[in-house]
Amino acid sequence: MLKTLYWFTHDLRLSDNAALEYALKNSEQIAFVYVLDPSTKIANNYHSQLLGDHQTRFILNALQELADELNAIGHQLIVLEGKPQAVVSEFIEAHAITELVVAEQVGEYERRQVLHLKNTFPKVNVVQFWQHTLFTQHQIDKLDCMSGSFSKFRNKVEKSSLDVAKPTPSESTLLPEHLPKPTKIENNFVLLKWFESIDTSYLLPNEMPFFAGEHAGKYHLVSYLNSGAAKTYKETRNELDGWHNSTKFSPYLAIGNLSPRQIWHAVLQYEHSDGANESTYWIKFELLWREYFQWLSVKLGERLFAFSGLSDTKPLTSFFAERYQKWCSGNTPYPLVNALMKQLNATGYMSNRGRLIAASCFVNELQLDWRYGAAYFQQQLIDFDVASNWGNWQYIAGVGVDPRGGRHFNIEKQTELFDANGVFIRKWQGSAVGSQLDANDAADWPILSDVT
Ligand SMILES: Cc1cc2nc3c(=O)[nH]c(=O)nc-3n(C[C@H](O)[C@H](O)[C@H](O)COP(=O)(O)OP(=O)(O)OC[C@H]3O[C@@H](n4cnc5c(N)ncnc54)[C@H](O)[C@@H]3O)c2cc1C
Repeated sequence: MLKTLYWFTHDLRLSDNAALEYALKNSEQIAFVYVLDPSTKIANNYHSQLLGDHQTRFILNALQELADELNAIGHQLIVLEGKPQAVVSEFIEAHAITELVVAEQVGEYERRQVLHLKNTFPKVNVVQFWQHTLFTQHQIDKLDCMSGSFSKFRNKVEKSSLDVAKPTPSESTLLPEHLPKPTKIENNFVLLKWFESIDTSYLLPNEMPFFAGEHAGKYHLVSYLNSGAAKTYKETRNELDGWHNSTKFSPYLAIGNLSPRQIWHAVLQYEHSDGANESTYWIKFELLWREYFQWLSVKLGERLFAFSGLSDTKPLTSFFAERYQKWCSGNTPYPLVNALMKQLNATGYMSNRGRLIAASCFVNELQLDWRYGAAYFQQQLIDFDVASNWGNWQYIAGVGVDPRGGRHFNIEKQTELFDANGVFIRKWQGSAVGSQLDANDAADWPILSDVT
């Protein structure tokens, strides 16, 4: 009997999920698993957890919805706890699995896990699908577009009018006439245990009302486009606060509640029905940034996390515990940065402009080793995505793909541009640090020459 294990990872959706479709069509019996790894909640060498509370909560809610959907068709989402490689191996052995179906990952360590399973179980057929990106591996290879900067990538993609495949319509995805037989286990309480373990006391969900799950993601996509905000996206995307100033697609993309293709085609449809302009183009432009970082992550492998990144030399920064702590808690001499960090800590979200400013401060003013900042963002962001986070941090630290060699934002100038009336700083209490301390600290902490 063909016994399939479908391993959900960053593809927590039932629609536009080619791997899932394949698995449903080709198995006689199927088990659906997701793995929660307790070691991701323990602070690592960079003093941060690999998975923080904001994204944990988001994932758990999405899993709950997925579990309900599967229950409704007589199946079960089996949530396992432990090191993914180990618990998936145990499951394969215990249930005599003959085929493992899993989406292709962009993170190096996730890719290695699947490779390890392939090597450990040569008799198990491992089937993988690309579904975290707009384009396929074949399209990217054929275009040979990953050997330079983002601009080169985008030019090649746009000039060749590279086709983004249409997403599978929702209604045709999940429910083939004859579903494979379910594999169920007893005492499937891991999800409940994790729900009970996360601390939500300090969260401000109303500030950034991200509701998890595929349905919520689809609803969010439609309501964003219906709001008309896409028409002015280019003008508003740099605002530091607000719900509709940018799309807020990122948390859904990060865990796969929405596929990039679903978003791309929804924007095309919107352009068709409501008219295209520079702003609607710019949403696609930003989705190409995401795309670029996804493929870059695959290309760089471990180097995505290396101190010197793509550079031959290491940055002249280091780790200073006090500066680091103050940056994390929003207690630096820079009110704008403090406000941004407090917003991040409370909501799990920070605008793209905010991320650029906070990261630039970390690397330039505070002269801290960028990897600690990237790791802290990883812990705090509700939309953490390995490729976008570590790729952007490398870029700002001057060890990434930026041909200009790093970005330094003048905090004063950024404050004038994006918070001239101090509304954002007041709202997030960016100045709520002893002023004496501010002045003294600021004198100690170098302000490098202005670049941006
Ligand atoms: C230091 C730093 C760390 C970041 N970490 C992450 C991360 O962990 N996860 C993440 O999804 N994004 C990350 N970004 C990129 C970007 O800030 C967020 O994608 C964006 O702010 C999310 O809000 P939005 O969905 O409203 O974006 P919008 O402005 O509405 O953009 C639409 C979509 O385009 C993509 N996008 C936009 N800007 C970028 C960018 N610079 N790089 C890659 N993709 C982009 C995202 O998928 C986003 O959802 C980071 C940026 C910086 C500077």
